[in-house]
Amino acid sequence: MKVICTQCGRMNVSCEAVINPNTKEFKEFTSESFFYGFCNDCNESVILTDVDETMDRIQAEYNKYVNMNNAIPKVASCKIVWKDTKDVSDVRIALSLDCQNDDDDDIFFYCNSYEDLKSLSGHGGEDFIVTEIYNFQED
Ligand SMILES: [Zn+2]
Repeated sequence: MKVICTQCGRMNVSCEAVINPNTKEFKEFTSESFFYGFCNDCNESVILTDVDETMDRIQAEYNKYVNMNNAIPKVASCKIVWKDTKDVSDVRIALSLDCQNDDDDDIFFYCNSYEDLKSLSGHGGEDFIVTEIYNFQED
């Protein structure tokens, strides 16, 4: 587990959890815990994302697609968060730079491979972070 603030990328964050008030024993995270939280560095409410979880899901969805279709997917349907505005969008990301010339308005971003897509779930050089994978598609 590596839960980061989508604005600054740091791990100095807080989220909601259920505890036993008497023993302070941790019970569970609430359902939105890994989405809405507070960043102690940004000092405001932010969107959180679990980088490891997203990477694992991308890998699992990719394996599922390859097994079912006996082919490599060309597009990933994802949810992203914009670092600056905290806006959330559903987008399609191409998994090969080759199709860049196709001029497909539908494609939000082009990356090299699904491994490259995985790296977009971290706080990297782009203006957005991939926070969820819906599925992989043929085109
Ligand atoms: Zn932050």
